[in-house]
Amino acid sequence: MASPKLSVIIPVHNESANIAPLCERLLPVLNRITPDWEVIFVDDGSRDDTLDLIRGVSRAEPRIGAVSFSRNFGKEIAIAAGLDHARGDAVVIMDADLQHPPEMIEAFVERWQQGFLMVYGQRTDRSDETRTKRGFAQVFYKLFARFGEIPLPEGAGDFRLIDRKGVDALRTLGEKARFSKGLYAWIGFKATGVPFVVEERRFGTTKWSFRKLFRFAFDGIAAFSTVPLRIWTYIGFLISFLAIATAIFFTVRTLLFGTDLPGFPSLIVSVMFFSGIQLMSLGIVGEYVGRIFAEVKRRPLYVVAERVGGAAEVSSDIVPDNYRMRRV
Ligand code: UDP
Ligand code: MG
Repeated sequence: MASPKLSVIIPVHNESANIAPLCERLLPVLNRITPDWEVIFVDDGSRDDTLDLIRGVSRAEPRIGAVSFSRNFGKEIAIAAGLDHARGDAVVIMDADLQHPPEMIEAFVERWQQGFLMVYGQRTDRSDETRTKRGFAQVFYKLFARFGEIPLPEGAGDFRLIDRKGVDALRTLGEKARFSKGLYAWIGFKATGVPFVVEERRFGTTKWSFRKLFRFAFDGIAAFSTVPLRIWTYIGFLISFLAIATAIFFTVRTLLFGTDLPGFPSLIVSVMFFSGIQLMSLGIVGEYVGRIFAEVKRRPLYVVAERVGGAAEVSSDIVPDNYRMRRV
C-alpha cells in the first residue's frame, strides 16, 4: 500500500527565530512517518525576515513551501488558507513556536490509522499561561459549554490532525469571523484526543494581545450562539416588571404617607440605568449586524501575495461553491 501523504500547515507571524529550530525538530519526525510529506507555512503578513528564511529552507527542501499573505489576516484565516493549499490525505495544524511538540504527530498519525478522522492534541495543563489569561479562558469555555450550539472537547486547541474528509468539509465553511475550534467540532466525524504538555514558547513573544483574545472570544460565542441577542429580551421583561412593581410601591406609599422629597436621585439613577441597558443591548445587536455585514460583503478570506515552493499550486480536486469566490 502506498504511504499516505501528510501535510503540515503552520501559520507564522514574525517567527523568524523559530523557523530553523522548528524545521530541525519537525523534519526528522515527518521522515520517520512517510517520505511523502509537505510542510506549508502560511506567512500571515510577517514584517521580519520570516519569509526569506522559509525561502531558504524551501530551496534546500522543496517539500517545504509557503503561502504568503499580502498583510496580517489573523491566525484563524491563516489556518483556512493552509487547508485550501494542503494536498495531503491527512493535514496537521501546528504553531511555529514549538509549543506544540512535533513528536506528537507520530501519535496523531497512529490514531488516524486506527480510524479516527480527527485527532486533537489535548493540553493537560495551562500552567504556561498567566493567571488572568487562564481565568478568562475558563470563563469563556464555561459560557461556550452553556450557550454554544456544540460542545467543545476540553483542552483541545488548534494542534490537531484532520483527515481529508474533514478538511474538505472545513473548506466549505466560508465564514469570515472564524472560530476554528468551533468549526472543528461543528463538522463532526469520529474524533479522539491525545494528551500533551504545552511547551514554553521558544523565541519571541506571544502574538496575541489581550484585545485580540477578547475579540476572538466574542467571535467564538457570537458565531455559535444567539443567546447574547436573545438574553436582552428576558432582561427587558424583568426590568419592565421591576419598574411596574416600583411604580406601584411608590404610588401606594404616597397615597398612605404622602410625599416627603421630590425624588431626584431615584430619577437620575433610573435614567442612567435604562440608558445603560439600552446602549448595551443595542451594542449586542450591533455586533451581530456587523457580522452579517462582514459576511454579505462576500470578500475573499485572504489575499495571497506570493507562493513559495511546493505550495505554489492550489489544490483544485475539490472546489466547493463558495471557494470559487474565496480564491484570489
Ligand atoms: N499567528 C499568526 N497570525 C497572527 C498571530 C499569530 O499566524 O496574527 C501564529 C503565530 O506565528 C504562531 C501561532 O499563530 O505560529 C500561535 O501564536 P502564538 O504563539 O503567538 O499564540 P499563543 O501560543 O500565545 O496562544
Ligand atoms: Mg504560542
